Amino acid sequence: MLPGLSAVVQTGLAPYACDPLQTRGRRLQEPLATTRTDFQRDRDRIVHSTAFRRLVYKTQVFLNHEGDLFRTRLTHSLEVAQLGRSIARSLRLSEDLVEAIALAHDLGHTPFGHAGQDALNECMADYGGFEHNLQSLRVVDRLEERYPQFDGLNLTFETREGILKHCSAHNARLLEAAEHGYADGQGGVGQRFLQHRRPSLEAQLCNLADEIAYNAHDIDDGIRSGLITLEQLQVVPLFNQYCEQALAAHAHLRQPAQARRLMYESIRLMLSEQVFDVIAATRCAIEYAQVQSIAEVRQCAPLVLFSAEMRQRSAQLKQFLFAQLYRHPNVVQTMAQAKQVVRELFVLYCDAPQEMQAGFALRSQQAQASTWDAGPALQRSVADYIAGMTDRFASREHHRLTGQRLLPVAF
Ligand code: MG
Repeated sequence: MLPGLSAVVQTGLAPYACDPLQTRGRRLQEPLATTRTDFQRDRDRIVHSTAFRRLVYKTQVFLNHEGDLFRTRLTHSLEVAQLGRSIARSLRLSEDLVEAIALAHDLGHTPFGHAGQDALNECMADYGGFEHNLQSLRVVDRLEERYPQFDGLNLTFETREGILKHCSAHNARLLEAAEHGYADGQGGVGQRFLQHRRPSLEAQLCNLADEIAYNAHDIDDGIRSGLITLEQLQVVPLFNQYCEQALAAHAHLRQPAQARRLMYESIRLMLSEQVFDVIAATRCAIEYAQVQSIAEVRQCAPLVLFSAEMRQRSAQLKQFLFAQLYRHPNVVQTMAQAKQVVRELFVLYCDAPQEMQAGFALRSQQAQASTWDAGPALQRSVADYIAGMTDRFASREHHRLTGQRLLPVAF
């Protein structure tokens, strides 16, 4: 081990954790850093990337201009990292890897949240489709242009694996055809989807931390927006239980003026209980499966999980949020306009690629997109360009090119 490194390596990692000293490495080999492990270095590269800074102006549920205090993709990613790290520490998993994956997990999101992704996927239906998860990997593998020697951030296998949560068999085969550089011959990040194997526990943990984070913060944002109320949430057992608990411990929270404090206390209790639940259920699952290594983790069913009861309660909360918030007429209407912006931008840039920034315009002229770029270069580079936009840049571009103002632009 390099002398400076021993001071920063996390000690006491479980045998089934991802050890940065045992990483499968980067596609392009680089000398080790002297004061950071490879996973810390991945995290730092992500934090310094352009795509990461753009997350602050990308929608989670509410559009950026609708209010200053709603979550954005950036604050969401930070919350996922916080939850992930604290669970990782209890389970003796690699905190640095969890943080790197959490901070990168939404880098491929389009402007305007899921509406943007759905619209772009429809536009790309005949050209290989668009999927935000695959796009996150594409951002860190290809689209970031910062380093003289390579495209992308040249992250370790373990971080890249964690970023690619889902992948169709078709895309996994495309990916594998382009994966090279892993000297151990075990294939790349597409391989597990073809062999039906699981990713690392750190990657599994980020998935669950993502879900815990958005369920909780969407309650907060939903109430803040006035689209859902605390009273409505009484029908959701998971929330109601902690609301009752908060009231029992702090009677003054019954006063109408304390409603916001009551909501925060209920969410805080709910988050804590979910964290404790994941830790306990995962410990049980690991013990039962008797895994002793990452290789064994990959062969098992998912091991980072909620207890059956918490899983059911969390699903009820999710159903509530779908019905009452994500499908609320106000949200649906804004999202319909956002979809129109994305669809029209797509057609406009395909007709006039020179309207895009120079690098994308240039790439759109290539005969065929290379390696795992599905579809022709023109449509793929237009999709890359649109996907990278912030909400307000997309709105401004739409206004510049059409003269119409579908969405108010915040400055
Ligand atoms: Mg997320």
